[in-house]
Amino acid sequence: MSETSDLPADEESDVPDMRVYLPHHEEWTVHIKRTWDKQYCYNKSPGEDYFHGILAGELYLQRGDEKYCLQCALRNRYVTLDRLFWQNGPRPPRKMPM
Ligand SMILES: [Zn+2]
Repeated sequence: MSETSDLPADEESDVPDMRVYLPHHEEWTVHIKRTWDKQYCYNKSPGEDYFHGILAGELYLQRGDEKYCLQCALRNRYVTLDRLFWQNGPRPPRKMPM
């Protein structure tokens, strides 16, 4: 096997499932912030009265001018960790041929 892993085989099952899904993926793009320019998440965290920054190397989501860190995107339910979201959640209207 040519694939390498940093983890011993018996610990791989301890890795949490961090796959992230965008139920409304048509509206969103995913970016990696690649500079140290100041850039702020579109949301404030609960209990904080300031906008937090998005760091170089951080993944973030964008919809139009709105940029969200993954934490806020999760809190706002723009993304989900639920692999069965397509079964449980509300679905976008199905495009019916007229
Ligand atoms: Zn945020």
